[in-house]
Amino acid sequence: MNGIISQTENEVVSRLKREDKLQRFKLEEFKGLTRNGGVAVICLDGDIDAFNHHTAITHRPHCLRVFGGPLVFARSFPGFREAFAVGLLENLRLGMTIKDTKTLFLYLHAPCGLAITYNYGIEEQLGLTAEIRNFFVGDQFFLPEKIHCLFHVKRINKGGELEQNTYKIVG
Ligand SMILES: [Zn+2]
Repeated sequence: MNGIISQTENEVVSRLKREDKLQRFKLEEFKGLTRNGGVAVICLDGDIDAFNHHTAITHRPHCLRVFGGPLVFARSFPGFREAFAVGLLENLRLGMTIKDTKTLFLYLHAPCGLAITYNYGIEEQLGLTAEIRNFFVGDQFFLPEKIHCLFHVKRINKGGELEQNTYKIVG
């Protein structure tokens, strides 16, 4: 895996965009959403650049990085481990209390090694979004309106150039 999605997956992303399930990330929509930086949950995979992207949103990019990123909070995902997920959630709650922020940015991404390990394609991954969100909302600390679900992808565009895009996951 070279960190770029396949041609087939590229077409899946294009279709999801057409169906409005993925919306191109607009910086102006996200900038200023969080006075104290919020916290991003990003996969630990060194082949993606979501963290650099995240620094555009805020000058205080607090971040939790773990292999799989938000996927580890999806109960139905085969890589889910209850004690691990609960421990991370507690750590996030504590850190966000210290940093005085309630804003959470969840970055799913593709290609994601952990997703691929369990044969989860892009659509299967995105299908876990509601479940991941619910894992947080189940804890009173986290507010639904302050949880932002994003999708970061490395793809070859129509012009044959490598691009890294971020999308808002809709629904
Ligand atoms: Zn990953």
